[in-house]
Amino acid sequence: MRYIRPQSIEDAAGLLAHSAGTAAILAGGSDLLVRMKGGFIEPDLIVDIKAIDGLGEIKETAEGFSIGAAVSCAVLGENTTLKRAWPGVVEAARLIGSKQVQGRCTIVGNLCNASPAADSVPALVAAGARASIVGPAGRRTIAVEAVPTGPGKTSLAKGEIIEVLLLDKRTPNSGDAYLRFIPRTEMDIAVVSAGVNLALDEQGAVRSARVALGAAAPTVLLVEEAAEALIGSVLDEATLERLAQACSAACRPIDDKRGTIEFRRKVAGVLAKRAAITAYKRAGEK
Ligand SMILES: Cc1cc2nc3c(=O)[nH]c(=O)nc-3n(C[C@H](O)[C@H](O)[C@H](O)COP(=O)(O)OP(=O)(O)OC[C@H]3O[C@@H](n4cnc5c(N)ncnc54)[C@H](O)[C@@H]3O)c2cc1C
Repeated sequence: MRYIRPQSIEDAAGLLAHSAGTAAILAGGSDLLVRMKGGFIEPDLIVDIKAIDGLGEIKETAEGFSIGAAVSCAVLGENTTLKRAWPGVVEAARLIGSKQVQGRCTIVGNLCNASPAADSVPALVAAGARASIVGPAGRRTIAVEAVPTGPGKTSLAKGEIIEVLLLDKRTPNSGDAYLRFIPRTEMDIAVVSAGVNLALDEQGAVRSARVALGAAAPTVLLVEEAAEALIGSVLDEATLERLAQACSAACRPIDDKRGTIEFRRKVAGVLAKRAAITAYKRAGEK
């Protein structure tokens, strides 16, 4: 097994593209090393991306935020400007694992591990985040929801690396929120989860919205009917009920020891409602 720590993203992409056997990208390693230790994978090549220039930085630009692929969730959570702009994204990232895991794990690793229950992904999808990718064919930018294609699978081609995640500049009177259900208080995988991002008009009615559900299907669901239920409303009880129904109807969850299909459907609606209420409150404060 070869371990390489390149200094540039182009070198990293080149190494991955020309590797003969199996190759893996190492960010925080909180998924990769667990899988290696468990004997599920044994890569011939490991490309550690943490020494690549700029990948450990969060940048605020005129367009919004650019979050490097090696930024740990602990560092992300300490960025007050990002937290003020995108509280839902940051609260989702901060739910991952424990203090120790937070010091290593990244939201890009969370996305690329492609677990349907990954915590940061519904919040990123609701936020309309985009992934900027570098690979043998150059650069491309895609919506975050286009990265995972199924449990443990992504749309990334051989040699492709996500360099940064992009979040738009927060518009006035808008807010986001993320909630998950777990049977204990922390250190557990979401049984079901919901991310809501919305913007209000001057009268306080919802102008635009995005609602995403986690652990409700093989990949995160962006529920357009749920967003439509919110648009034009001031989040009255009837609207929240329509939102919950749209979310429950969109779910295609599995039935396992952690939750039945019926339970997941019901809780998806409840969490979406609660996340919408928090996002609406946050939008009113900005
Ligand atoms: C104790 C424990 C508790 C956990 N709790 C949670 C939890 O509550 N919620 C949750 O969602 N997850 C949880 N996880 C899972 C894990 O911590 C997250 O998925 C984490 O965000 C992965 O990030 P990483 O940087 O460690 O990824 P890594 O392990 O380094 O990589 C994960 C995968 O992504 C690929 N990858 C990494 N970076 C890139 C890149 N830039 N471009 C392309 N591919 C890339 C890797 O090759 C690998 O396949 C937990 C894990 C542990 C060990």
